[in-house]
Amino acid sequence: MIEVNKNLCMRCGGCVATCPKAALTLTEHGLECDNRCVSCGTCVNFCPVGALKVKK
Ligand code: SF4
Ligand code: SF4
Repeated sequence: MIEVNKNLCMRCGGCVATCPKAALTLTEHGLECDNRCVSCGTCVNFCPVGALKVKK
């Protein structure tokens, strides 16, 4: 699973398209990650503002 820093996330939606498991969704509450996430780190590396990190 990933953790979203909602203060940094600008809701651009870019990471949603990079996720190979389609685990990310942009909702009215911000970016959400569901249990399809395999913690691959692709979205973390993609985010231009560093708003994502893999939860330990
Ligand atoms: S790429 Fe980063 S800033 Fe854009 S929606 Fe994803 S987490 Fe937010
Ligand atoms: S860590 Fe990988 S599987 Fe999880 S949300 Fe990010 S891109 Fe998708």
